[in-house]
Amino acid sequence: MADLCGLDAFALRELFVSGEASAGEILRAHVARLEKVDPRVEAFLTRMLSSAEQQAADLDRARSAGSPAGPLAAVPVAIKDVLCVKGAPTTCGSRILEGFVPPYDATCVARLRQAGAVILGKTNMDEFAMGSSTEHSAYGKTRNPWDLGRVPGGSSGGSAAAVAAKEVPLAIGTDTGGSIRQPAAFTATVGLKPTYGRISRFGLVAFASSLDQAGPFSRSVRDSALALSVMAGHDPRDMTSAAEPVADYLAAATGRGRGLRGLRVGVPREFFGEGLDPEIARSVRRCHELLAAEGAELVEVSLPTTGYAIAAYYIVATAEASSNLARFDGVRYGFRDREAATLRDMYDRTRRAGFGAEVRRRIMLGTYALSAGYYDAYYLKAMKVRTLIRRDFDRAFEKVDLLVGPTTPTAAFKFGEKLDDPLAMYLSDIYTVTANLAGLPGISIPSGFTSQGLPIGCQLLGRAFDEPTLFTVAAALEAALDVGKHAPKLAVDA
Ligand code: GLN
Repeated sequence: MADLCGLDAFALRELFVSGEASAGEILRAHVARLEKVDPRVEAFLTRMLSSAEQQAADLDRARSAGSPAGPLAAVPVAIKDVLCVKGAPTTCGSRILEGFVPPYDATCVARLRQAGAVILGKTNMDEFAMGSSTEHSAYGKTRNPWDLGRVPGGSSGGSAAAVAAKEVPLAIGTDTGGSIRQPAAFTATVGLKPTYGRISRFGLVAFASSLDQAGPFSRSVRDSALALSVMAGHDPRDMTSAAEPVADYLAAATGRGRGLRGLRVGVPREFFGEGLDPEIARSVRRCHELLAAEGAELVEVSLPTTGYAIAAYYIVATAEASSNLARFDGVRYGFRDREAATLRDMYDRTRRAGFGAEVRRRIMLGTYALSAGYYDAYYLKAMKVRTLIRRDFDRAFEKVDLLVGPTTPTAAFKFGEKLDDPLAMYLSDIYTVTANLAGLPGISIPSGFTSQGLPIGCQLLGRAFDEPTLFTVAAALEAALDVGKHAPKLAVDA
């Protein structure tokens, strides 16, 4: 039988449906892979092997009984540790949630389960999704499977690394400012941040509520579409989830033969300025050429407020975080300092010991930005910039159907390289944060490798709820690029 761990979710499900592989076999192949490579990659915080065995056995029994298979039947999936999975610890990469076991599934997790996905475990992340390298986790670092001396990106680094290392074909992450797309670019995986509101946030521990969105990491564009079709849709338990009908994403990703004639592809001028690695620029330009060869028209567009996006993002995100993280006080969840003499002292000592340095920095920044006398100068101003960013996109999308540019300015960096310089770390998201501020969908697909053998990501940004166009174009690019053919060997397999 083919190497089960090399296949995508779509192919695995087909093997299960045709009876060529049982859910148990598929699971065991991935568990063996995990046991072999994860001691070095360290993508997982929690392994859920016995409940996964149980799920696989149930699926095999249902198949024998002739029950129809769900769209993700028998597909092993990993979940970022910021999403609640019933009965499994949820740490958010933080000590402050130590011992917290949610009694319910996040809506997107429940939908994956219902579609037949087998949940293999929870993955490492920057504490409360704050970071771009997964180095801010309280539970150790995750290594990039392409180069074990480098970061996998972040904050969803564990999910990205698990997919890249072939421990799972599919993993879920969250993206507040780039945390799905940036690690996808660093690990040669496909990472989708859907439109804000497309997937319910119920059961997703909030970092910045107006920016957070869950989405899949996969090894193919069709798997990204498949996963979105399972997780998308309105949820009465999340009032920010959209009632917008769920389109046929899989058809958009697999509908061949339509070509790209008539499609207008925007090239955002500001995404090719100073700071962009020339090898990445070249790789993305090649994507433009391939799209043009498929019949698309290239149109240069300008997003003039791009230069203010990081500043605005770090005001809005920290302001919301300072409010969202107030609930972690040693009373309601997880860790509590037991030495304190008074209640106030207990809050203080719990939060001091429970939160890491980056989280504390952001709580302070956000509290400052919202405080009397500074609110107008910082928070209100950032909200105005946010509106201008949205208008930039509105104007661009009058002329083009989507934008295609780099996902990140550089390829994966070394451990420690940006750890002491928060601003350098923040700049990793320069091309991704605007989509969150505007609520738009974005997908990063592998577009090649640098001369050092590090993955490069190409980012496609679309109109709100126009994931179908992203999938169609991403699938066309994926086929034209055929990146797998020229990929170096994974470091974990060397
Ligand atoms: N790196 C950005 C930050 O640190 C984005 C994080 C995210 O998308 N969760 O805030």
